Amino acid sequence: MPKAAASAAALLFLSLPLAADPLVVTCGKLLDPATRSVKSNAVVVIEGRTVVASAPAGAKTLDLSAFTCLPGLIDAHTHLLLQGDATSAEYDEQVLKESTPYRALRAAAAGRIALEHGFTTVRDLGTEGAGFTDVDLKKAFALGILPGPRVVTSGPAMGTTGSYPLLGFSWERKMPDGVLKCDGADDCRKAVRYQVQYGVDWIKLYADRSYYRTPDGSWAAIANYTPEEIGAIVDEAHRLRKKVAAHSMTPTGHRSALAAGVDSIEHGDILDEATVKTMAARKIPYCPTITVADFVKGPRSKTNPVWDQLWAASQDSFRRAHAAGVPIAFGTDAGGFDWDKRNQAEEFSFMVAWGMTPWEAIRSATTVAAELLGPSPDGRLGCLEPGCAADLVAVAGDPLASVKVLEEVKAVVAAGRVVKGGK
Ligand SMILES: [Zn+2]
Repeated sequence: MPKAAASAAALLFLSLPLAADPLVVTCGKLLDPATRSVKSNAVVVIEGRTVVASAPAGAKTLDLSAFTCLPGLIDAHTHLLLQGDATSAEYDEQVLKESTPYRALRAAAAGRIALEHGFTTVRDLGTEGAGFTDVDLKKAFALGILPGPRVVTSGPAMGTTGSYPLLGFSWERKMPDGVLKCDGADDCRKAVRYQVQYGVDWIKLYADRSYYRTPDGSWAAIANYTPEEIGAIVDEAHRLRKKVAAHSMTPTGHRSALAAGVDSIEHGDILDEATVKTMAARKIPYCPTITVADFVKGPRSKTNPVWDQLWAASQDSFRRAHAAGVPIAFGTDAGGFDWDKRNQAEEFSFMVAWGMTPWEAIRSATTVAAELLGPSPDGRLGCLEPGCAADLVAVAGDPLASVKVLEEVKAVVAAGRVVKGGK
């Protein structure tokens, strides 16, 4: 491989600092989401950033025998660079009045909150006008400069001219964009290359906007891209070995995104039967982002009743997708709600209220999300056997009896380091 072709990610992980001392963690109970099994008095041995089979000499110990351990949680839909935007005024305020350095500081604080809530990996789906700051955050967290989760990045995310905030300002003013815009297949292909150049792990695009009900009561929207444009984005991303996440709320967006071959559907509030069938057959996951929908429906419905209606319909979509076997990956849209006001782990209770078993909800944030993301340089995600990344959380009580206990994580080990609950 030519030197210039060595990926930024490989260089980053070659330069990681020496890991913490080897660690032997004793768990009262240990959940294995992949096999849906529970072991009592289990031991997890960690060397470097990875789980290993046996304890090396000089290993330290972490006694979690009073707790139930499970693999570190994965939130597959976040925005570290956003601090709650229930209304468009709140969004505009952050993008217009806050400098990127200030936003990066707030994002670092958000990363710490996520980690302390047990989320050791996040897929961050768009920096909302802050360029590739997520790539910088990923590096700072991975190097241990600041505490934060493993970040799977997507940079600025993609839209088209006129499709995404900032909108509604005078045409005489040049306003910043919340996404990277592209128009036309060639321009969109170039936009993908540009993002890959600066180190994104995923490509995120916005497939639809302006959601409305048709006279027959079904849902539609404006598709942001022509088939040629969205096809070029997905083709170029896959050619460069990157996966594509599509914001898509309605059947209009799903048809566009699924025909182009995207790898995940984000939100999916209105899943019609054709979409459910396609996603189940092709095993395309979706992130329901229930917590953010609950957060925005009140404030947004004051000016547009569509948001209350979307909330009501999304529960039915979830139930039908779940029954049909569509993979459901845990994703909250944290950042769309304030990181310091609501805990991402609330999503578990929504999922169970909407028909999942506790095991299924836990698997969505471990096994299913890990399958979507693929392995990290530290090892496989969402598991705790030898060869898995050394990410572990511990809770008091039994999360299989009540997922509510996942909102009060007692200990966190991330990439082999004890970041909460150690002595
Ligand atoms: Zn989002």
